[in-house]
Amino acid sequence: MALKQILTEPNSILRMKSLLVDKVDIELQKLMDDMLETMYAARGIGLAAIQIGVPKRVIVLDIGERDKSESTKDEKDEKDEKRKNPMYFVNPEIITKSTNNSTYEEGCLSVPGQFAEIGRPDKCHVKYLDYYGQSKELVAEGMIATCIQHEIDHLEGILFIDYLSKLKKSMIVKKLTKQKEQLDRIVI
Ligand code: ZN
Repeated sequence: MALKQILTEPNSILRMKSLLVDKVDIELQKLMDDMLETMYAARGIGLAAIQIGVPKRVIVLDIGERDKSESTKDEKDEKDEKRKNPMYFVNPEIITKSTNNSTYEEGCLSVPGQFAEIGRPDKCHVKYLDYYGQSKELVAEGMIATCIQHEIDHLEGILFIDYLSKLKKSMIVKKLTKQKEQLDRIVI
């Protein structure tokens, strides 16, 4: 596994539309492993391949919540177990989504240090291929539904700040541009 660099806004690659994957092979599994390692290192809960510059329809998530039926441990153990529930979605596609919205404060590894409340459908039914290329479906609710929709947006070149007002969005982009310029100046 290898750590990859996470692209940050503004970057035209993040605006690309990702392409369908035709085969889940060892190469793709290696990409998913690298994505997960990169995501954990950056303390994120979701990452799309395009965020490391790979325009493929692949996302990884770990919101640290295990299937409730599996959990028999007490709360302390639950905490230690956090972030050990990796989920892989290849060619994810939302089949249906709820008409009810829920709002979460969202952040993004490609929009460092910025957070905003975003409303999205509170449930979605998603079809995808798993780590082994098996066809799967998931009815996601709550935070995981939000995460999946946030990550699928990345595959379309959409960032959560695109849902904000023009003014708010331009303020954030300006800040990020400034941060980038400052980073560029640090030469060691
Ligand atoms: Zn994101």
